Amino acid sequence: MKCKKCKENAVLADPALCKKHFLSYYEKKVSDTIKKYKLISKSDKVCVATSGGKDSTAVLYLVQKFLKPKKGQLQALLIDEGIAGYRDHTAKDLKKFCSENDIELKIASFKGSFGKTLDKILKSGRIRLKPCTICGTLRRYLLNKHAKGFDIIVTGHNRDDECQAVMMNLLRQQTEILARLGPMTGMAKRKGFVQRVKPLYFCSEKETALYALLMGFDVSFNECPNIIDSYRADVREMLNNHESRHSGAKQGIIESFIRELPKLKKQYSGSGPAICVKCGEPSSDKVCGACSLAAQIRTCSNTVRI
Ligand code: SF4
Repeated sequence: MKCKKCKENAVLADPALCKKHFLSYYEKKVSDTIKKYKLISKSDKVCVATSGGKDSTAVLYLVQKFLKPKKGQLQALLIDEGIAGYRDHTAKDLKKFCSENDIELKIASFKGSFGKTLDKILKSGRIRLKPCTICGTLRRYLLNKHAKGFDIIVTGHNRDDECQAVMMNLLRQQTEILARLGPMTGMAKRKGFVQRVKPLYFCSEKETALYALLMGFDVSFNECPNIIDSYRADVREMLNNHESRHSGAKQGIIESFIRELPKLKKQYSGSGPAICVKCGEPSSDKVCGACSLAAQIRTCSNTVRI
C-alpha cells in the first residue's frame, strides 16, 4: 500500500501514510488537540505523569517540543508502585530518556510514601480490593501531591484508554465520574487539585505505539501483570472485539461522548472534591481514598508516612 500523500510505502493502512507523513499527521493531531481544548499554554509550568511506557514517553517528548521549556518549567513525574519485573524496567527506560533529553525527573514511590510496595500490599492479602483499584487510588494521590506548584499534569491517556473509561463508567452507572472525563479532566478548578490534561486524547493506541516505534523511543511494550485482574481488561477486550468487526466504533464512542460532555460537566458542576480532613488533599469524602487505604496498609505495617 502506498502513502496517500506521496509514492512511498505506507506504514499504516488507515490513514495510508508513509513514515514521514504519519509522523507529521500524529504530531499535528496532538498539537491541534492542545490548541482546540486549550490544554497547555506556552507559559505553563508542566508536570508530565510518566511511566516509561510508549504513551507517556510520546507525550513527554511532544510536550517538550511544544513548550521549548525554560529551566524548571517541565518536570517528568514517575510514581513507582513497586511492581517487580515491570515498573523497574520502565523506570530504567524513562531515566535514560529523561537524561538524553535533558528533562528533570522526579520519582515518588509507594514504598517511600506508604511503607510498602504494591507487590507487598497485594501479597499481604489484607486489603480486599482489586490491584488496580488500590494502585489507581494511591497513584492519583501521589501524582497530585508531587505536582503541587505546577499549573497542569499532562497524562498519556490515548483514545482507547478514554473509550474504556467511558464504557466502564456507563456500565457501572457512574455518571458523575463520567462527567470528569474528557481532554481536560474534572468539572471546574478546585483548590489543591492540579488540573490534568490529555493531549493524546484523539490518538489511538495503535497510532501511539507506531509513533513511539518510528521515533525510536527505547520503551517496553510489556503490560503490568495486574491488568488481567481488572474490570478495564474485560471492557478493553469487548471494545477491541467490537472494533475488529465494526471499524470506527471507538472513534464513534469518543465523538458521541465529547458532544455530550459539556452537558454532563454542567450538570455536575456543583459537585467535586472537597478536602480530606486527614491529609488536606482533594477528596469527595471526608477522608480520601488514599488515607483510608493507608490506614488499612498500616494494619500490616507501621511505616506508613502519609
Ligand atoms: Fe497499577 Fe493496574 Fe496499572 Fe498495574 S495495571 S500499573 S496495578 S493501575
